[in-house]
Amino acid sequence: MPRIFSGIQPSGELHIGNYLGAVKNWVVLQHEIESFICIVDLHAITLEYEPDALRRRTREMAVSLLAAGIDPTRATLFVQSRVPEHTELAWIFNTVTPLGELERQTQFKEKSARQESVNAGILNYPVLQAADISLYRADTVPVGEDQLQHLELSREIVRRWNNRFGEFFPEPRARLTPTRRIMGLDGQTKMSKSLGNTIGLMEERDAIWAKLRPAMTDPARVRRTDPGNPEICNIFHLHKAFSSPETVRHVDLQCRTAGWGCIECKQVLLDSMDRELAPIRTRGVELAGHPERVDQALGDGAQTAQRIASSTMTTVRERMGLT
Ligand code: SF4
Repeated sequence: MPRIFSGIQPSGELHIGNYLGAVKNWVVLQHEIESFICIVDLHAITLEYEPDALRRRTREMAVSLLAAGIDPTRATLFVQSRVPEHTELAWIFNTVTPLGELERQTQFKEKSARQESVNAGILNYPVLQAADISLYRADTVPVGEDQLQHLELSREIVRRWNNRFGEFFPEPRARLTPTRRIMGLDGQTKMSKSLGNTIGLMEERDAIWAKLRPAMTDPARVRRTDPGNPEICNIFHLHKAFSSPETVRHVDLQCRTAGWGCIECKQVLLDSMDRELAPIRTRGVELAGHPERVDQALGDGAQTAQRIASSTMTTVRERMGLT
């Protein structure tokens, strides 16, 4: 049976970048393919963190995912550390992973270049990713282009294990996320909390407007009468994500002919965003008032995940002589 595995960092409340770039797609996929959605707290501890903040952000991420439309009766939503088999399989995969492959990973090079002292968890991060996917014998992983190298390594690790101990794990295939990378409000860098250029998924309309109003547009539009080029404007790309196709065509025309100023254009975007985000906000408020629903969803998810993980590890241990 086809199965997908998706992981997300416990970074607190979702912002529209990770909503559009990943979660919105998962909400659709959960109706088509058996889906495992995992809040990867064991990955998060490879960087400096505070335990209380991690606990809070894990919780906020769970609320955001449920509010965004992840349905725990359709998808298995759980927190990675609740299923200890993730680390067991990661250790096993470490024994078939060439060190050179890990050192070649671009994300390892980038992260280690930014730090004085690099822990082994950062190097072995892709091995844990391979274990995350394989524990559920998932054959498909929805990813952005920046994750393709890690997924290729997962395929390599799985191939090596299968060659040594017999065919068991499917080699996971990438399913590229349809939405292009969402840029931050500065229009220059990827939308990211650490860069402070995000819009929270559950922010109120007024708060969204306070961020949209000064957001970067086509720098060539100095005066209201200057025509613009929507293709180089981040506001236009947000229109493509939130507005109807007719509105997007209208924005394109109004921008190129200077029919609208950027403020009018942003007001139309605000309306489109509010149409999609208001119900998410409402669900988020409801969930905040009923923490037992979040506990129930995560508890049920962990139970389902544990059952499958346990069955996978029974076979793995038998094949490897670990009984
Ligand atoms: Fe961007 Fe809209 Fe201004 Fe054109 S009119 S530059 S699309 S904000």
